[in-house]
Amino acid sequence: LFLTFEGGDGAGKTTQARLLEQWLTERGRAVVRTREPGGTDVGVLIRDIVLHHRGDIAPRAEALLYAADRSHHVATVVRPALERGDVVIQDRYLDSSVAYQGAGRVLDAGEIRDLSMWAAGGLLPDLTVLLDLDPAVARARLDRDAKPFDRLEAERDDFHARVRAGFLGLAAAEPDRFLVIDAALAPESIAAAIRDRVAALLP
Ligand code: C5P
Ligand code: MG
Repeated sequence: LFLTFEGGDGAGKTTQARLLEQWLTERGRAVVRTREPGGTDVGVLIRDIVLHHRGDIAPRAEALLYAADRSHHVATVVRPALERGDVVIQDRYLDSSVAYQGAGRVLDAGEIRDLSMWAAGGLLPDLTVLLDLDPAVARARLDRDAKPFDRLEAERDDFHARVRAGFLGLAAAEPDRFLVIDAALAPESIAAAIRDRVAALLP
């Protein structure tokens, strides 16, 4: 079972991924919790480039870096785990590319999706949880937690508004794959909604 979390920065993806991992582990499931970018040794190097490079990266080059990270991650971590029968819980996957590099950077969303599908060998999640949040609220959360901004989080508001709309458009186009949740709700009620949906998918 392949489960992904998507949404803007500060929406609570990591918190919810952790809670879901805990719940599944308590039920005796073997779980691999991982993330993109940066879920492998190669990915850690790529993550450093995309998040911390000083100065601009050409949009297509940026898209290719995320695709390279994804390709190595799927081949060496995600597919082997799924073949063992483990549940994979992943923080960000190809929908992030379509939303950030497509809607955010205004590249062609179809091309970004095709690139991701090529990189990932066509692997799609069984369920994608979209934690939807107003970027202004997300920004206030990041400020409150005093996390240092990375290159993307420092983007202007219109960028984050496009990313949010991009995610919602993807969810509307594939309603069976997506579970869209209002990320302003209390973390425990969000976790409960996710558990309900995942429970129905467990073999
Ligand atoms: O979720 P996480 O903080 O690990 O993501 C790292 C950064 O990379 C985020 O700021 C996110 O906006 C950005 N990102 C991106 N395109 C992707 C994946 C992540 O711009 N395809
Ligand atoms: Mg972040």
